[in-house]
Amino acid sequence: MQQQTIHIKQEEKKIWDLLGNVTDPEVPVLTILDLGIVRAVGVNDHGVEITITPTYSGCPAMDMIATNIRMELLAAGYENIAIKNVLSPAWTTSWMSEAGKEKLKAYGIAPPSDKQQVCSSDLFSPNEAIQCPQCQSYHTERISEFGSTACKSLYQCLDCREPFDYFKCH
Ligand SMILES: [Zn+2]
Repeated sequence: MQQQTIHIKQEEKKIWDLLGNVTDPEVPVLTILDLGIVRAVGVNDHGVEITITPTYSGCPAMDMIATNIRMELLAAGYENIAIKNVLSPAWTTSWMSEAGKEKLKAYGIAPPSDKQQVCSSDLFSPNEAIQCPQCQSYHTERISEFGSTACKSLYQCLDCREPFDYFKCH
């Protein structure tokens, strides 16, 4: 029995490592672990169950992410893979790892502001100062609610004049 438990823990660890290879189709520098959308990994006699929470409901990238998870695990020899979407509690930008935020910045996308901890339209002020990922200036303005994808807004830095995407959560 104890042997079995150890075996399951090892399998779960292997799966978490594999999930670290699955990237966000919209921001390929980010893995799904950086995004913090994987809530649970379960292994039982019937197969593998992965629980994910979308960055926001209706995000078109989520279907692709589920497919990519399935392909990654199939390639590693896992079968009977169930992917469960859990919408509650809702994903917030605070689930994103610090490493993930650094990678976003290096990629030229402003990471979610520390103040934007909860993805609620009531709490998120679009006029909140967003830092330019190029020159770190807070002197920026929003050009468009939608950037290169629906999950981002387009901003422009008023100091270095660079346009950039801001990762938003809804
Ligand atoms: Zn700038």
